[in-house]
Amino acid sequence: MSGVRQQLAESGHEKTFYLETFGCQMNVHDSEKVVGTLLQQGYRQVETVEQAGLILYNTCSIRDKAEQKVFHRLADFKKLQAKGKKFGVLGCVAQQEGEKIFERAPHVSLVCGSASYNNLLQMLVQLEGAQLEAEIDVGSQDPLASSRSGASLPAPRGISPAASPVSDGLLGLASGDARGLSRNSGPRTQDLVRITGLDDRQTDKCFETEFTARTNPHRGYITIIEGCDKFCAYCVVPFTRGKERSRTSGSVLAEARQIVDLGYTEIQLLGQNVNSYRDPDGKKSFAELLAAVGEIPGIRRVRFTTSHPRDFGRDIVDAIDAVPALCDHVHLPVQSGSSRVLDAMQRLYTREQYLERIEWMKTARREISITTDVIVGFPGETEADFAETLSLLEYVGYDGVFSFKYSPRPNTPALHLDDAIPEQEKSRRLEVLMAKQREIQVARYRKYVGTKIEVMVEGRNESRNQWIGRTSQNKTLNFTASANPKVGSYTKVLVTGSFPNSLLGEMVA
Ligand code: SAM
Ligand code: SF4
Repeated sequence: MSGVRQQLAESGHEKTFYLETFGCQMNVHDSEKVVGTLLQQGYRQVETVEQAGLILYNTCSIRDKAEQKVFHRLADFKKLQAKGKKFGVLGCVAQQEGEKIFERAPHVSLVCGSASYNNLLQMLVQLEGAQLEAEIDVGSQDPLASSRSGASLPAPRGISPAASPVSDGLLGLASGDARGLSRNSGPRTQDLVRITGLDDRQTDKCFETEFTARTNPHRGYITIIEGCDKFCAYCVVPFTRGKERSRTSGSVLAEARQIVDLGYTEIQLLGQNVNSYRDPDGKKSFAELLAAVGEIPGIRRVRFTTSHPRDFGRDIVDAIDAVPALCDHVHLPVQSGSSRVLDAMQRLYTREQYLERIEWMKTARREISITTDVIVGFPGETEADFAETLSLLEYVGYDGVFSFKYSPRPNTPALHLDDAIPEQEKSRRLEVLMAKQREIQVARYRKYVGTKIEVMVEGRNESRNQWIGRTSQNKTLNFTASANPKVGSYTKVLVTGSFPNSLLGEMVA
């Protein structure tokens, strides 16, 4: 145990944290690894901000709304700083806003981008050092301090920033600055402890840790590739998550086997562009890695997201056809049905090339369910461009569409494009698109009525007296059953009804 941890433990100071996650599946899984790192460091996770000593937000900045949410949260709980609580901002907003966060929210002590998570442990030690120093300082000014020593010391009371200046030696307690770690030494008050991890976007390393606190009881997530080099004109990800880097296939397969040993039967491979995967050891293509994960004994289902159309090869469809454990679902974001807009978005494919990939899936031996992302109202998008997106939805017949109004983001090239679409028009297009897709889904979901589908039992909805199942195609299939199925098991369900976003059925023997 380090000197700092020893002293904290001896002071009876229990280290607790609260973590809230915003944004995509990658963030959710990053949080699982962050939680694992904190637990390993002796922290206990708590359910509310009020119970926690350290409050962390793992943030998303993909659209303006997501970013604003984080600043609202920070403002809502600012008053808790007076009780000695520390605040940290992790993830994309942290990387994007950097040290500006300290100006907007001066009660924040830690700002760490996702490319710097490998240094998180050292940052925590620095933070603990700062905390301990502040407490020692408070203690030394306390007339009762000499009677409070060793194991009999009661838990430290809240530290009032105004009453607890810290010495310049504050960070002498830390384990030494790691590469990419920096610190601002501002005024001598403990509320201005500032630790940053922002300089690692050029790293070749992925955030690999053996301490992942898996929270999804049914699905084990494995990040196989991090960052993005594509630089779509509207997107912050290359700026916030850093350059593209893959893990070795050996390390991915080892983690997959570990997950199976933990009792998981379903694995989801993750990456901003999961299929841009490049094995640093040169042993496996993405399709080969996918197949290899699907062939691990004990694995029933393998999912992967998100796929980029430019890097989507026919070999992925062949792998799905060949390996039964690979789920028959592909999420392939199109963004727009107009080649003109795709070009302006710097998406690196045309409508025709996208549809070629759809053709590969439609001619596969297994019926592959396809979902997508669409952005409406990109600068310069005309009515005719938008009509092309609607016609593409019709042609492909998606089982789900995540649709977004274009949100201008800092640093992105699209910020400087002319012909911004008014907010009201963006909203109108979004509504039209959603209504169209709803019609498509009503028809698509209806055709499963009367068929028998295998589901993984994910839980129970007591109020509806139904079990919640998930199909290989990633559809929700709620069902009734005469005997109670085990959560996490697989069972066959006869589909008896359909809705635009889910199916209804009865368990069959
Ligand atoms: N890498 C994936 C790809 O290229 O398809 C997408 C990952 S991105 C994190 C998730 C989705 O957010 C994108 O597919 C896009 O539809 C949406 N998105 C990204 N930037 C956006 C912006 N500035 N405004 C609106 N939607 C945006
Ligand atoms: Fe963003 Fe484009 Fe990279 Fe996807 S491919 S993460 S949309 S820059």
